[in-house]
Amino acid sequence: MTHVVAEPCFNCKYTDCVTVCPVECFYEGEAMLFIHPDECIDCEACVPECPPLAIFHQDNLPEQWADYTALNAEMAPNCPVITERHDPMGPPIHK
Ligand code: SF4
Ligand code: SF4
Repeated sequence: MTHVVAEPCFNCKYTDCVTVCPVECFYEGEAMLFIHPDECIDCEACVPECPPLAIFHQDNLPEQWADYTALNAEMAPNCPVITERHDPMGPPIHK
């Protein structure tokens, strides 16, 4: 089992989630983050740290984002790990 980052993460201005992950399993794509399913220990620490509510346990993933389980698994191994909060990602959509 794993947690999954879904569509609300696109162009997030926050990366608070990565600072609480005990196993450093967040990976940074161009427009959003991904969780490596082989590394996530389902501790749920990141869930309340995500303002747009983009992180779900894979069993609770809303139906419209079902594809994100495979997307996280595919993308995480191909992106750099991210362990520290940094400046906003992408264009500013939250004011
Ligand atoms: S806080 Fe949530 S929306 Fe923002 S980068 Fe982390 S997972 Fe994505
Ligand atoms: S559930 Fe825990 S281990 Fe999995 S990504 Fe979130 S903080 Fe990391």
